[in-house]
Amino acid sequence: MMAFPISESTPMSYPGPLPSDTDVVVIGGGVIGVCTALFLARKGRRVVLLEKGRIAGEQSSRNWGWIRQQGRDPHELPIMIEANRLWMELASQTNVDIGLVRSGVTYLAHDTKEFDSFAAWLPIARAQGVDTELLDRAALAQRFPELAKGGYAGALTTPSDMRAEPWVAVPALAGIAVRDGAVIVEDCAARGLDMEGGRITGVMTERGRIGCSEVVVAGGAWSSLFLRAHGVDIPQLSVRASVGATDPVALPHQGAAAGKGFAFRTRADGGASLAAGGSHEFFIGPDAVRALPKYGAYLKANPLGTKLLPASPKGYPDAWSTKRRWAADAASPFEAMRVLNPRPNVKRLKRVARSVATLFPEVGPIQYRALWAGMIDVMPDVVPVVDRVAAVPGLTIGTGMSGHGFGIGPGMGRVLADLVCGDAPGHDLSRFRLSRFSDGSAMDLGPAL
Ligand SMILES: Cc1cc2nc3c(=O)[nH]c(=O)nc-3n(C[C@H](O)[C@H](O)[C@H](O)COP(=O)(O)OP(=O)(O)OC[C@H]3O[C@@H](n4cnc5c(N)ncnc54)[C@H](O)[C@@H]3O)c2cc1C
Repeated sequence: MMAFPISESTPMSYPGPLPSDTDVVVIGGGVIGVCTALFLARKGRRVVLLEKGRIAGEQSSRNWGWIRQQGRDPHELPIMIEANRLWMELASQTNVDIGLVRSGVTYLAHDTKEFDSFAAWLPIARAQGVDTELLDRAALAQRFPELAKGGYAGALTTPSDMRAEPWVAVPALAGIAVRDGAVIVEDCAARGLDMEGGRITGVMTERGRIGCSEVVVAGGAWSSLFLRAHGVDIPQLSVRASVGATDPVALPHQGAAAGKGFAFRTRADGGASLAAGGSHEFFIGPDAVRALPKYGAYLKANPLGTKLLPASPKGYPDAWSTKRRWAADAASPFEAMRVLNPRPNVKRLKRVARSVATLFPEVGPIQYRALWAGMIDVMPDVVPVVDRVAAVPGLTIGTGMSGHGFGIGPGMGRVLADLVCGDAPGHDLSRFRLSRFSDGSAMDLGPAL
């Protein structure tokens, strides 16, 4: 088996040094932090991005690389449509081939109930001018005969959806950010905010203090641990999702597609990435126990989609033994886990390979060349927090992308940069407000498509 391309032994591209001060510190070098830093630099701000491990070491390289509008929450969709345009612009601004292809995304309905749930999303697409189509059984057979062999009730498909190669794309975006003036420092965990008179004056890191008046927390699965230490509570949890990369294989369907129990996409190297769509594993820890009451609607909507596992492994954000408080001059949980690299669920991935081989018997048995997993950070309503924190002037949150942050990353980065600068973000962000978890709002579940 080949090793996953980014790990803590990957040589650093941005070793530092840490500047003594800046305008904005961005915490987290995933797609959200990288894009935020990129657009802040383009707005003329001095920006320093801190990454505890390697750029894109966690979710942002481990994902499927789907850049999809299909199935999004109506409030995310305008930002995602913008992100689609930004992906194309950014791809042309780097000299790296990020594998951006407009190959479409297709969801296969295994029964009429699921087909009807797909149909319910169509008006959302139409209202915002997205080219999504609902295909009934006969239309599916005509449009994608290779998929129709699975006996599906129909499909939802969006031809303008895209894909890219995550572990190439996000480091390439970081390259653009640096070219445009951002400073990135890897192997540099942010331990906490330095506050004076209720305002941010800097960030305490494992390499010392950096002065700044604005901070963006884009720490993926670690965001709630960081924020809680400053009295900001978000009910963010994370679930494990496994992926397998096959040897080169000529899948008859070239776009990205998902059906019951599987999802696949072709990669630029000729192999395919396979995963068990719609199901994941959830390790129980103290944050989970605390946040559980908010997750009622989430669990009810997909009761079999989440498998509960007894305890988070040591060092994970929600492990029972993970410290919730630490001093700024002592090691924090962030640097204790440079790159969160969960063990993949091999049994499940074998099942996925069998499902895909059954759908496409002409390709023969499917062999994996690499297996990996990522911890997806989730929110109870499956939409992120993108907001300024009223109680901590200077603090902005961009996290909780809930399993679909890769595609929307450039759009969210542009929005976050505007929020930090006090400029109009151009989209209604009320759906993503922080206060929805404390003002008595019911959790309004986004489309789980
Ligand atoms: C298996 C899998 C499949 C997925 N498929 C898709 C898909 O096809 N399409 C899609 O749109 N999305 C997909 N996603 C979701 C997507 O990958 C995430 O939503 C997105 O990458 C989140 O980006 P992020 O920047 O918020 O977080 P991350 O990529 O997790 O980055 C956060 C970074 O912050 C760093 N960090 C945390 N705390 C600190 C600190 N205190 N100091 C310094 N650094 C810190 C971490 O080391 C990490 O690198 C998938 C995710 C997984 C795991």
